[in-house]
Amino acid sequence: TLTPESLEYRTEVKQLLDILAHSLYTDREIFLRELISNASDALHRVQFEMLTNANVVDPDRELAIWIRPDPQAKTLTITDSGIGMNRDELVENLGTIAHSGARAFLQNANADKQALAEIIGQFGVGFYSVFMVAQEVTVTSRSYRPEDRAWRWRSRGDSSFTLEPADQEERGTTIEIRLKEDATEFAQTWRLEQIIKKHSDYVSFPIYLIQPGSDGDEAKAEVINSRTALWRQSPSTVEEEAYHDFYKQLTYDTEPPLLKVHLVADAPASLRAILFVPSRRDRAVLAMRPDLGLRLYSRKILIQERNRDLLPDYFRFVEGVVDSDDLPLNVSREMVQSNPILRQLRRALSSRLIRELKAMAENEPEKYLTFWQEFGIFLKEGVATDPTSHENLLDLLRFRSTKSGDGWISFQEYVDRMQAEQKAIYYVLGDNLQAAARSPHLDYFRAHDIEVLYLVDPIDGFMTTMLREYKGHPLQNVDDAGLELPKGKDAEAEESGLDQEAFNRLMDRFKTVLGERIRDVRESRQLVQSPCRLVSPEDSLDRDLQRIRRLTEE
Ligand code: ADP
Ligand code: MG
Repeated sequence: TLTPESLEYRTEVKQLLDILAHSLYTDREIFLRELISNASDALHRVQFEMLTNANVVDPDRELAIWIRPDPQAKTLTITDSGIGMNRDELVENLGTIAHSGARAFLQNANADKQALAEIIGQFGVGFYSVFMVAQEVTVTSRSYRPEDRAWRWRSRGDSSFTLEPADQEERGTTIEIRLKEDATEFAQTWRLEQIIKKHSDYVSFPIYLIQPGSDGDEAKAEVINSRTALWRQSPSTVEEEAYHDFYKQLTYDTEPPLLKVHLVADAPASLRAILFVPSRRDRAVLAMRPDLGLRLYSRKILIQERNRDLLPDYFRFVEGVVDSDDLPLNVSREMVQSNPILRQLRRALSSRLIRELKAMAENEPEKYLTFWQEFGIFLKEGVATDPTSHENLLDLLRFRSTKSGDGWISFQEYVDRMQAEQKAIYYVLGDNLQAAARSPHLDYFRAHDIEVLYLVDPIDGFMTTMLREYKGHPLQNVDDAGLELPKGKDAEAEESGLDQEAFNRLMDRFKTVLGERIRDVRESRQLVQSPCRLVSPEDSLDRDLQRIRRLTEE
């Protein structure tokens, strides 16, 4: 026989393997979750392929995962009847692909290695976690394409792997692990059962655990996972705990979600969905994964792993699953996008989410502020980019103001406590709260007890250019030169100390000294504590945008 061909890993993969193999000793059990998750992905893919392609190897083979421990031989074997890999795919996926995920993992590797292992799947390099427990790994795979043959990949997790043709007629992938001396617990059935229940209970294909000594008799194997499609159950029958477990298995997030929404509807379209708002924005998931979106099923068959059309873009931090019996099964993913049912699902999902957030704002204001501080920026982005969102989003916005102290207020609260003669909602833009609070433009407003909103996020300038009013009250920047202010109680009371002639001379002096740098100098009757205020000319409509430009050029 030919000697197997030997190939080198990419540099970043070598470094990653070095860390996995030599410095991670706890939480090693997650390797099994990663391998089962890959098997489940491969099964979903072949299931989807078979919807439209009759020419698939082994079309009748059961879609499942088989786990075979052998404590005597200290091996563990994981088999799936999924989509499989041909030679090129093995090389690409398990060794030479340029991995931004591997690089990101390495960049974080000096941080907390154990915490990192826990979330390795998020970096798209979950397969390599097997080297935390393996001395040697052999992957034998036969692709679903009739023209492909089986190949065997083998590695000891050092700097290279080998490839050779293999004899395997059946479609799918088998991963054989020769366990490290200190990892033989992973050949114990009770231990495997425990891990599968903990991390992979919601995998939708059966996971069989084959008892050692049963001669690999698959008939004697037992299904370990409960395979519940939680979203297809009635919300009243599901325990809170189950939602959390499901969320954890879906997202790898270690914290429970901030909000859970379970939707069941039959009209206008059939819809079963569970949506989650995570508790934090900067979870590695969001930072690492460019591919956000919801899992989309049709009749429990996964038709898209990450669909971004089911919710408006500004809800892209939402995680979850959506299932509809009304989506046609035999369509391409591209056609799903333009399907009218999808638009109905989107409307139902986003209006329910808005409703839940409003309810949270009303009934659990503390919790809502946590939400706002993590995800408010996305809602502001929604206001800035999508005028049709205003109706839904404006009441969800929260602000600091000259009167809010450490609290936050809504537009409605602002309007409710406006001065009697006040029409507009006033705001000041600034780089931060301190700078905004020092603005001389605020003199007049403080003197007359008029509240002003502090807008200090970079996105706020975009938002105000799109947002002209709230319930008939125009939004006005306090630096607006032509600001028409409500008459204050004693607005005109104080006379300027200078006579007109002396005052004109002073203004001329300003103009001469400042020259080209200004357009004009005018008298202001709005100042109390500050000697002057800088205003923008009336014809520069997009002052807020200019400010953004200034910020981004810096
Ligand atoms: P991810 O699953 O995030 O893509 P992994 O490192 O876990 O990253 O896996 C890398 C790739 O290897 C997968 O995307 C898939 O293409 C391939 N792969 C891994 N395991 C299997 C399997 N059991 N069957 C088919 N393909 C697999
Ligand atoms: Mg994976």
